Amino acid sequence: MGQYATSQTSMPRTSPILEMTTTSNDGGTHLLCSDCFVDEGLRLDAYKHGLEKEGDCPNCKSPNGRKLTKDHIKALAWRFFVSGTTVRGAYGGAPVIQFNEYHYGKSDISPSQWLKGDIKLIEDAAKIGFFHYGPRLWMVGEVEPLKDLEDPEKRSQIIARVLKEYPERTLAKDSAFYRLRVGPRQPADPSEYDSPPTELAGKGRLDSVSFPVLYGSQDIDICIHECRATAEDEVFVATLKPQRDMRLLDLTHVLKEDVTEFESLDMAIHMLFLARSHSYEISRAIALSAKDAGFDGVIYPSFFSLIRTGGRPFETAYGLSLRRFHPQAEEYGRAFTIPNFALFGRPIEKRSVSVHCINRLVLTQIGYVGHFGPVVY
Ligand SMILES: [Zn+2]
Repeated sequence: MGQYATSQTSMPRTSPILEMTTTSNDGGTHLLCSDCFVDEGLRLDAYKHGLEKEGDCPNCKSPNGRKLTKDHIKALAWRFFVSGTTVRGAYGGAPVIQFNEYHYGKSDISPSQWLKGDIKLIEDAAKIGFFHYGPRLWMVGEVEPLKDLEDPEKRSQIIARVLKEYPERTLAKDSAFYRLRVGPRQPADPSEYDSPPTELAGKGRLDSVSFPVLYGSQDIDICIHECRATAEDEVFVATLKPQRDMRLLDLTHVLKEDVTEFESLDMAIHMLFLARSHSYEISRAIALSAKDAGFDGVIYPSFFSLIRTGGRPFETAYGLSLRRFHPQAEEYGRAFTIPNFALFGRPIEKRSVSVHCINRLVLTQIGYVGHFGPVVY
């Protein structure tokens, strides 16, 4: 049985994918520069990631652009054309465009007029071709256990599997975690940081009518995102500590399974917690069943995990899910998943959790980091 440390940092996790893409050897030859591009998004992205080196660009002869090696160009192509065309469905998501070396010289996409020359430069420099990608259907939610969860008739069978196959973790007595409140009426009153009153329950991902849930996290930045706090809000953060070991069902665990993505319970749960409010009916049913099975709460992946860690939804290599086939699948899953806690009932009132400290939180910066994509393809 695993335990959560008493102090977790909120440093961004390192990305196994970034490590994978930066360790190939492309000889370091500069092929293009940021000034080569007409498309403003490509130019800005190339400038951000390119190398500051003296000398003229071998392509456009500009001395001022940031230089790009073959690896830089492939990474630029991935961000702009693959990530930049990723479309989310009710569950899952998939890019509209992909590229690989087999499609070099056989590109079939129809970009804006101003992108045509840029695409030719990228394709010739990196020896790749862009094509319309027909996603494997599991990527857009064609996952049997997920479809069964959506079906009220079959839901309970899958939930029984969830309770059996996901591990139990202990949130150890005295391990600190946080709960944020935006505009509490009496910020110094510890009871402000309990779950909402029972009559108000039933609006969130895991609470139901007359079943309140206390949402908390060991990552303060995630709390800020989850609260949708803005710089104008009065925000307070309570540091909470369990008064006894709490039994939690860990839904952030990467299940080891011997099935395809189409049959994967792991993929179903992963997609469920990255989906929007249309999925709450299912996650609430899981929470109620976990309570009936004697758990004090669940650990679940934050909806904002991907934004916070820089992960990308449902990343694949050759149509296989990296979450499942990455050599370090477990580390991979963990690197892109931020665990949140949902503790059942009103644990502060019940004295199973105490308020250790309350602070005002002054937001000085709320940042978005992004990249560009094409408008038509
Ligand atoms: Zn150039």
